[in-house]
Amino acid sequence: MRWTDLFRAALLCLLCSQALAGPKPSFLLTADAWINLHHFLYHSARHALEPPARGNRLPPRSVDAAAELDDEEARIWRKALDVYARAARRDLLFDGRMRNFTQAVAAGEAGQAGASDEAGLFTALREAMLVYRRHWWPEHEQCARRRIEELEPKLARYGVQMRQRMESRYGAEWPRDGILVALTPYADERGAYTTSGGAVGNLIVFSCEDPRYVDMAGFEMLFHEAGHAEPFSTRIGRASQQAAERHGVAEGRLWHHYLFHATAAALRELVGDGYRSYADAQGLWRRPSTARLPAWFEAAWTRQPELDALFDHVHARRAAAAAEEGPPPGGP
Ligand SMILES: [Zn+2]
Repeated sequence: MRWTDLFRAALLCLLCSQALAGPKPSFLLTADAWINLHHFLYHSARHALEPPARGNRLPPRSVDAAAELDDEEARIWRKALDVYARAARRDLLFDGRMRNFTQAVAAGEAGQAGASDEAGLFTALREAMLVYRRHWWPEHEQCARRRIEELEPKLARYGVQMRQRMESRYGAEWPRDGILVALTPYADERGAYTTSGGAVGNLIVFSCEDPRYVDMAGFEMLFHEAGHAEPFSTRIGRASQQAAERHGVAEGRLWHHYLFHATAAALRELVGDGYRSYADAQGLWRRPSTARLPAWFEAAWTRQPELDALFDHVHARRAAAAAEEGPPPGGP
């Protein structure tokens, strides 16, 4: 190679690294076959153990379609389900090994043979992939891409402003590498869940089929889930816990109520006061213990938007309300 070619190559490399170093999108929305297969096997195996009582039920086709498999395909699929039957007893969010495994699958490690703590699960995925692609993936991919097509224009229109608002309301900067979002019909009974700290950093697994997550509610819940990502999750949880301790009240998952409130309030600023939030639609503020929270959060935000001061204000009001109500009846 002549030196001019070397120079050109070096220049191109510099330009390309500069382009890569530019701002990353807030969310990277993906329709990934491995993550989809992993969740599909997990939920199929879990369904066989104990049909889910609520939420993200498996539609009949997912189970019945096994009947369309030929003998060899059925053997491969049964084998994968047997391996997943053990994994299905573990929770996708609260079990550390499952979290790490899902992160590794999202990082593309399932496609590479290699030693791993979860070698059995990786092998099951690799063996089942061909059958999955033939019988289920086209439908699952369509579902994932439909939701991506619905979310992307909203992100283009409101994404930057929402991101800035959430950085203020969540009290930290957006994760430097953005947040990976895997769309799949079978996320979790909760509709979506978020893990951090594994092979891909922040990962949201988000249902493309859950009717509670369509249209603006889905867009809102994407930013709610971002609050479960790092550094937001630790920042918000700690601020609320410390304020609760200062006021001698139980934290009571106030941090999580704050995520619901903060995303809805930020979105209302952009789309208008008439917006009916996910929490409103699901009746989250109808309980006596939560009814006053949105007003308290918003009053605190208007008075002192810094996160520690905000939680200080809200926990102080909870403590005052508890003192007013007195001990529960029948107490000492
Ligand atoms: Zn949540």
